[in-house]
Amino acid sequence: MLATSPHVLVVGAGIVGASLAYELGRQRARVTLLAKAPQLTTVTANSFAWLTTGYGQDEAIVAFRQAALREWHRVEQELSGRLAIEWSGALRWFTDSPATERFANRLLTAGYPVHLLSPAQVRALEPHLKAVPAHALFAPEEGALDARRATEVLLQAAQAAGATVQLGNEVRALLTSDSRVTGVMTTTGPLRADLVVLAAGVTSAELVQSLGLTLPLAASPAILLRLHTPHRFVQRVVSTPEWEIRAASPTQLLAAADYVAASGANSPSAIAQRTLRNLQAQWRRTEHLRLEQVAVGQRPMPRDGLPIVGHVAGVDGLYLAGMHAGVTLAVLVGRLAATEIVRQQEQALLAPYRLTRFA
Ligand SMILES: Cc1cc2nc3c(=O)[nH]c(=O)nc-3n(C[C@H](O)[C@H](O)[C@H](O)COP(=O)(O)OP(=O)(O)OC[C@H]3O[C@@H](n4cnc5c(N)ncnc54)[C@H](O)[C@@H]3O)c2cc1C
Repeated sequence: MLATSPHVLVVGAGIVGASLAYELGRQRARVTLLAKAPQLTTVTANSFAWLTTGYGQDEAIVAFRQAALREWHRVEQELSGRLAIEWSGALRWFTDSPATERFANRLLTAGYPVHLLSPAQVRALEPHLKAVPAHALFAPEEGALDARRATEVLLQAAQAAGATVQLGNEVRALLTSDSRVTGVMTTTGPLRADLVVLAAGVTSAELVQSLGLTLPLAASPAILLRLHTPHRFVQRVVSTPEWEIRAASPTQLLAAADYVAASGANSPSAIAQRTLRNLQAQWRRTEHLRLEQVAVGQRPMPRDGLPIVGHVAGVDGLYLAGMHAGVTLAVLVGRLAATEIVRQQEQALLAPYRLTRFA
């Protein structure tokens, strides 16, 4: 049983750790947040940061992600618009019309509002596309944000609610007594807490090994391109089988692409050059589009693609929060997890995402 106002130690200051610290602070926990790396190097800092239902494996995760989008509206209001979310809606299409229609139907069956658009409707939304697909899907409830900035805003709000934030303090190991986690050993010494929350991305899997636990969460690389454009030519999030793009500012564009290999013809820089040429072939006003940066982010990817969240059976004092699409899910998971931790009330919405499902 936790103390009335538990001391919770959150490991990780990406979007997931920052959201947890914010929500724990709102629910009056005493929070210390530790993070190893400067914020520039987190996965979050190199995220495409599309708030989306994604590619929805089943109805439950589509509903969960839909709830996550609503949650961003709540936090946006609480933080007086400082998150600057662009609720632009998202346009996407697949390799052919039947695939696009199948996907639209799957989302509609799950209760998620999307529209199948004709070429004329696509053109109205994205007038600078040279050729438009026969069918595209529009999800009006989706948007995007600057994930690094959102993380900073959440960390500041957590601090305003009383959280202590220590950036640049690496956790080397979990401290235990019997079968209970009692704190962490950091580069600056031991820190004790009532509960340790691991939101350290892929490193969480390494940290739990000393407990004899296997966390089925591995690094899954993805490429983020930052491009400069003197003319904003894209209005919404646009996702195709070849690339995802969106405007990050009037002059900066973000594009996400699949990672294939570290070097050779499919290295990140070769893929970036091909993506640039591809965008120039498919959009007007791209003559002066140029590549500014190519980054590879190691996404923390659970084996089945679904979040891993919750207390750990048989290990008191430990709570896990590892997930893909962490930007979309962070504030919903943050609130639900904080409620489980502070009020000790199990949240039904988190039931499908426990570690025990891998047993
Ligand atoms: C190219 C790309 C595109 C993406 N697109 C999307 C998208 O469109 N929508 C979406 O929702 N998601 C997207 N994602 C995924 C999303 O960015 C991640 O799921 C999310 O950022 C993970 O956040 P996190 O807080 O779990 O991890 P991270 O951001 O990696 O943060 C982990 C934190 O843990 C700290 N840490 C690690 N080890 C230790 C240690 N030993 N001690 C102390 N601290 C430690 C790190 O310093 C860091 O602060 C994308 C990712 C990439 C790379």
